Amino acid sequence: MDFDLDNFCESECGNTWLSSESGGNYILIGLNINDNDSETSQFLEISILPENYPGLNVCTVTEYVKNMIDHIQERYEGWNCRKWNLSVEVPVNENGEIVGKPVKELQFTCPNCKNHNLEEIMSNVSVASEISTIRDDGDIDYGEQTNEDGSVSQYQCMSCGYIIGQDEKELITDHIDMVNWIKSHCPQED
Ligand SMILES: [Zn+2]
Repeated sequence: MDFDLDNFCESECGNTWLSSESGGNYILIGLNINDNDSETSQFLEISILPENYPGLNVCTVTEYVKNMIDHIQERYEGWNCRKWNLSVEVPVNENGEIVGKPVKELQFTCPNCKNHNLEEIMSNVSVASEISTIRDDGDIDYGEQTNEDGSVSQYQCMSCGYIIGQDEKELITDHIDMVNWIKSHCPQED
């Protein structure tokens, strides 16, 4: 008997099938689908990952449809969408491949002066400056500048010098920590 996968999927709300070039498959079977954002849905989730022994995982998932789509965009970016029967528009590019979630720009707002310009201060940097012109009176022109080594010592407001983390336990010197600080301290427009 021929198994008609097209029919199988199209007749079932929530059923979704993705595949990767390396032979991976991700399948959602809608068990109890609620399209509204206020109720969770139930899915049977099947993932076949050839590169990952034992390679076949089956489980039931209770989740909001919106969160399932976030999960698909995060975990299966670049996979080919074979079937999509979720209520939200399929997040694919022109080749039918799942696209990741769009990256949003964040805005820094200084808690002290409300300015939006942030600067990264590095210390122990070696700066090399090309000397382009040397004159006999000692006047020198510089060309390109490159810098090496060094580490971030702080992130600060360009206007008033407010240092990120100065009101907390320690200053922030890692860019991921800086991003998280902005997410939790600076109001963002939608
Ligand atoms: Zn400031």
